[in-house]
Amino acid sequence: MSAKPIRKIVIVGGGTAGWMTAAPLSQRLDKACEVVLIESPDIGTIGVGEATLPTIRFYNSALGLDGADFIKKTQATFKLGIEFKDWGHVGNRFFHGFGDFGPAIENRSPHMHWLRLAAADKNMRPLEDWSVATVMARNLRFTPPAGDRPSPTNAFSYGFHFDAGLYAAYLRDYAMQRGVKRIEAMITEVELNPENGFIAAVKLRDGRRIEGDLFVDCSGFRGLLIEGALKAGYDDWSEQLPCNSALAVPCAKVAKLTPFTTSTAKSAGWQWRIPLQHRTGNGHVYCDGFSTDDEAARVLLEGLDGRALDEPRQLRFTTGRRRKSWVKNCVAIGLSAGFVEPLESTSISLIEFAVGSLIQNFPDCDFRPELANEFNRQLSIRYESVRDFIIMHYKLTKRTDSEFWRYCANMPIPESLQHQIELFRETGRVVVLDPDGFSVPSFISLLIGLGVTPKSYDPFVNHIGLEHLRTHFDRLLDSIGGMVNAMPDHTDYIAHYVPAGPVPGLAV
Ligand SMILES: Cc1cc2nc3c(=O)[nH]c(=O)nc-3n(C[C@H](O)[C@H](O)[C@H](O)COP(=O)(O)OP(=O)(O)OC[C@H]3O[C@@H](n4cnc5c(N)ncnc54)[C@H](O)[C@@H]3O)c2cc1C
Repeated sequence: MSAKPIRKIVIVGGGTAGWMTAAPLSQRLDKACEVVLIESPDIGTIGVGEATLPTIRFYNSALGLDGADFIKKTQATFKLGIEFKDWGHVGNRFFHGFGDFGPAIENRSPHMHWLRLAAADKNMRPLEDWSVATVMARNLRFTPPAGDRPSPTNAFSYGFHFDAGLYAAYLRDYAMQRGVKRIEAMITEVELNPENGFIAAVKLRDGRRIEGDLFVDCSGFRGLLIEGALKAGYDDWSEQLPCNSALAVPCAKVAKLTPFTTSTAKSAGWQWRIPLQHRTGNGHVYCDGFSTDDEAARVLLEGLDGRALDEPRQLRFTTGRRRKSWVKNCVAIGLSAGFVEPLESTSISLIEFAVGSLIQNFPDCDFRPELANEFNRQLSIRYESVRDFIIMHYKLTKRTDSEFWRYCANMPIPESLQHQIELFRETGRVVVLDPDGFSVPSFISLLIGLGVTPKSYDPFVNHIGLEHLRTHFDRLLDSIGGMVNAMPDHTDYIAHYVPAGPVPGLAV
């Protein structure tokens, strides 16, 4: 016999995570289930999640959002990947593009064949030249992928850069139109059921008491319910991900909108540059053990390519994750569940994943622990694979110009990551431990970009004639070049198809 269904969900927090949770619940749940979202006017949102992964498109399309309307209302631009500058060593430049380096040949990844060609020809062009996303980005071109059959015209993917505050507001309108009730109030107390330790209600400063069956904690770093009330515990990853501070500042946009995020390594961290239609978002992520805040602010402001539109805003965090994101009748989503750091723009994708997993493992009022265990298992794999991918960026440095980079080069890393790096270094093979996480081409971009040159390659690629292989790579290069040259400029594409209106009150 099935248990009593959930009849009331209380979401605590109205940042990106809160509204990204409310929107799909409002779309999918039986209308007999009430969804209430509580957000405090006195506690702001973090508001800096501006770069995304391509998975955001699946999230948006599952909601049935109108793609053009979403872009216009959130001041979005297209993102083909991330340009890395000064990572690995000062003067280094590489691109992590969304997509592969050509089609597989006889079931072997294109990079294996490239390794063979590079072993035979010291002047072989860089592998990046076969990444359609990278060539588009270098040339500031954009058009969406086209066609169903495998071809260079659809051998790339894209995400977005958007204004996180506008995105949350967009989803708020969506969710409220579908019945989500919003309460603007400060929660001052969390009431536990003395018999089973479940959350019974949250109490508001104005005296109201809001009961619920299921509580979703989207309260940000503070983890008001999951940690404050339920003491889930936190695994601190700062030994291997030492950045713990950020300064964020918008600046005036420049004429050309780059279809990519830029990440520039600095002496105690790195700086992001994210182009939006109305402004450019910038931030300096650093470790306060290796830089003062004043020095970090100076570095940030010096690295802007437009006039600062505000004072830099300080943010502090501890990298890591909640030991359990689902405890009793409380599920933590967003920063309350953990924060790996924004280097590969993974936080919003972790929210998408967690919301999907909650819907997949949606409980009844009996809250069978197996569902929570499964949710926690899935989340744990995902967070740890993101963690390892990010650690790789730091660990593989050859920079010795600052104490921070010397620390990163010498820090211990998880065994699984050590294995991934060594396997690639010795044999050119990539092992992906999380099939839903970063894929083989992403690992290759990073490993090669950071200077890991495989000592050998898969011997099975040897039976293809070398000349035949060369011709294939040459033809592909020509076809990518010709195709990208015919694509519209990214800035023109946006102006023509998805221009956003002016933002009231924005100083530009
Ligand atoms: C420096 C930095 C850069 C980042 N860049 C990116 C990026 O490029 N891409 C990406 O994907 N992610 C990025 N992130 C992460 C991203 O910002 C977050 O994942 C996202 O904003 C979700 O935040 P949140 O909703 O969990 O928390 P918050 O935005 O902090 O929202 C918390 C909410 O809880 C409410 N609340 C808290 N306490 C109470 C209370 N007592 N009563 C009532 N309400 C309460 C607040 O009012 C607020 O509405 C970045 C994060 C940082 C720190």
